[in-house]
Amino acid sequence: MGASATAVPVALESRPTGVPAGTAAADVLATDLDGLRHMVEGATASDVERALRTRRRDLADFAALLSPAAGDRLEEMASQAHAVTTRRFGRVVRLFAPLYLSNQCVSTCTYCGFSAPNEIVRRTLEPKEALTEARALMDAGFRHILLVSGEHARIVSKDYLVACVEALAPEVPSLAVEVQVWDTETYRRLVDAGCDGMVCYQETYDRDTYGGAHLKGKKRNYEWRLAAPDRAAAGGMRRLGIGALLGLHPDWRVEALALAAHAQALIRRWWRCEVTVALPRLRPAAGGYQAAHPVGDRDLVQLLCALRLLLPDVGVSLSTRETAALRDAMVPLGVTHMSAGSHTEPGGYASETDAEPQFQISDTRSPAEVAAFLRAAGYDPAWKDWQRV
Ligand code: SF4
Repeated sequence: MGASATAVPVALESRPTGVPAGTAAADVLATDLDGLRHMVEGATASDVERALRTRRRDLADFAALLSPAAGDRLEEMASQAHAVTTRRFGRVVRLFAPLYLSNQCVSTCTYCGFSAPNEIVRRTLEPKEALTEARALMDAGFRHILLVSGEHARIVSKDYLVACVEALAPEVPSLAVEVQVWDTETYRRLVDAGCDGMVCYQETYDRDTYGGAHLKGKKRNYEWRLAAPDRAAAGGMRRLGIGALLGLHPDWRVEALALAAHAQALIRRWWRCEVTVALPRLRPAAGGYQAAHPVGDRDLVQLLCALRLLLPDVGVSLSTRETAALRDAMVPLGVTHMSAGSHTEPGGYASETDAEPQFQISDTRSPAEVAAFLRAAGYDPAWKDWQRV
C-alpha cells in the first residue's frame, strides 16, 4: 500500500464479548465437549462398530470414530468415507488459490510468520496490484480466489478490502476473504462488492490455548472470532469456511470434536450456506516457530474419515501445507477443495518479491501438475463452479 498507509489513526471499534443467542457460536459453547472427550476415551470396539453401522450419525458416534479403538478400523472408515464422498460430491475437486493482499499485522500470534514482532519485509498490494496477481492466477486456470491478509485496521481497513474486491470482481467469478473478522455490516459491504465467501479458522477451540497463542491484538477476543461465521452469513456470505490449526493444542481429538460441533451448528443455523472445513497442520514460520504438538499422518486421516462420516455434505479443504504425497492420498477419503501452486507472500504470483511468506508450504507442484494428478486419479479438477450474476 502506498502513501495512504501513513494516514491519520482511525478509532478502533470496541468488540463485545459473549456470543448472541441463536447462533452457531452459541451452539458450540453449549456443547458438552468434556463429556464427548470422555466418550472418545471410553469408546469400545462395539461403540465403534455401532458408529460404523448407523446411518444417521451424531457427535457421540463421531467421538467413537475418533477414538483409539477406531484406529484398528481405519481401512473400513476410509472405504466408507470414500463411498460417502463419491455419492455426495462425485469425483470432483474444486481448485482455488490464496491471494495474499498484505502481510501487515498488529497482532501477535505465536505460530504466524506475519506476527507483529517478527522483523520481516512487509508489503500491502494496491488494489490494482491485487488485480495483476489475480490475472496471473486466472492465467494458471483459477476462477476461485481467496483474498488473505494480516490484521491491520488502518492499512488493511474495511474500505481497502472492499476496494480490492471491487477491483477483482468484474474478472474473477468467485472471491472469498480470509482476513480479520468484521461486523455484519462490513460483511454485507464485501458481499455487495462481489465477495461470496469468508474463511475464519478459530485456530483452537480451547480458550486457554487460544489465550496462550494470541498474545496481543484484537484477535485475542475468542468469542468475537467464534461468532464471525454467523455474522458473515447474516451479511450474505454464501460460503463459510472454518478450521482449527492442528498442533496448537496437545489433544487433536478435542479440537476435532469442537470443530465438528461448529460445522454441524453452522449447517443447521445457516442451511442456505455451503460450509467447508479445513484441517491445517501447523507449519514452520518466520520467528522460528515449530508446532508444539505435531499431529501424525494417521491421526489426520482418521480425523478426515470421521468428519466425512459425521457430515456427508460438508466440504473439506486441504492446502499446500501438506506434502504432495499425503494430499494425493487424502483426495479419495473426502477432500473436496484444494489449493495449488500457492504463494503465501503478497505479490508472489505475478513477480518476484522479497515479502515474507506466512508459512512454508510443502506441496510445491504447479496448478497444472495438481490438475494432472487429479485427472490421472479419475477426478475432475473444477476450476469454476460458481458465477456471480
Ligand atoms: S494469524 Fe493473522 S492476526 Fe495473527 S499474526 Fe498472523 S496474520 Fe496476524
